[in-house]
Order: sequence, then C-alpha cells, then structure tokens
Amino acid sequence: MRAAELVETVMARGACGRPNDAPLPDEWFRDDESDAEWADHAERLKAFCREVCPVMAECRELALRQGEGRSREDDVVRGGLSGFELLDLRVQDATRLRAEAAKDRSQLVEWRRYMAAAAAVHAAGAVITRPSAERSARARRQREAAVRRLQEVRQERRARARWTVAQQDDHGQADEALRRAREADRRETAGAGGGR
Ligand code: SF4
Repeated sequence: MRAAELVETVMARGACGRPNDAPLPDEWFRDDESDAEWADHAERLKAFCREVCPVMAECRELALRQGEGRSREDDVVRGGLSGFELLDLRVQDATRLRAEAAKDRSQLVEWRRYMAAAAAVHAAGAVITRPSAERSARARRQREAAVRRLQEVRQERRARARWTVAQQDDHGQADEALRRAREADRRETAGAGGGR
C-alpha cells in the first residue's frame, strides 16, 4: 500500500480516532513522566492498539515510513509500538523502507503530473467555449493535445499500478475534465452547424 492509502486507511478506521472510547490525542505522547510511569502508560496504549484497532498493521507501517521513533527519547506510541520499538524496527527493516519511500515519492510525482494534465484539459476546454475563441483551430488543437497528454499519463499509470476501484475514484476529476471537453466539442459542432 502506498503512503497516501495508508494515511487514508488509518484516518478512516484507526481506533484512536473514535471520539468516545479512545485515549485523547495528547495521551499518545509521553508527558512529564518517569521512565517507569511512561512504561506503564505506553503498555496501556499498546494494549489498546492490539485489542481494539482494526488497522494496526497499516498504522505501524505508516509510522515506520514517516520515520517515527527517536533514539534520544521514547515518547510516543503508534501502531501498537513505543517510539524505541519503532526505531528498532526501522533499523531492522531499513532496506525495504527505503524502497517503499522511493515508490511513495514516485507516486507523488506521478500524481502531480496526472493532475497537471487533467487541469490542462480543463483549461483548454474553458478557452474553447468562450464565444470569441469558439472557432479557433489553435484552441481546438491545444485541447486535443491536452487530452492526448492526459491519456498518455493515465496509460502510464495504469501500466505501472494495479488497477483498482480506489484508483478509478482517483481518476474522477480527470474523467470530469474529459467529459467537459467532449461536451464543449458537441456544443461547438452544434453551434457551427446552426450558423451555416
Ligand atoms: S494502531 Fe493504535 S495508534 Fe494506530 S490507529 Fe490504531 S489505535 Fe491509533
């Protein structure tokens, strides 16, 4: 799972996000406590994660990818582990985590390219629907190029990634831009026919 999906999963289903039966947000961090007090406190939090949370694995993976856990102080619990435990796991799993972080960055770059291409289609569609530019061959060519670019980016993304329902949802905005471009085409064609 990519980092963005881990974030969504944990935000949507993490037990600590429930309003009434979870420790308060501040309670997930060490207060002014002795080591023994924090050890008890952290054990209670870890037990809560283990016993109640349906997304502990995802939460732990996200914490690892975000570099949670410091060597200087054990001051947090996430994903059923204390800060020191997360740090130990990060060190043990460093090779895999580096590879996952690279894939996360690559997905972010890909997503930005995708949204830029969708925005270009939308902008080109907006230009061509203005009356003064309605018959502009240049505007039409720009829009067609933008649509082609968007389709290329989509195909690259589909080729690289598994195609899932969640990804189809991701493409909703781009699909809307394409739908508008096609609608603008229909309007333009109808307008040109009526003017003759
Ligand atoms: S594993 Fe623990 S810290 Fe993570 S979302 Fe679940 S309850 Fe919250």
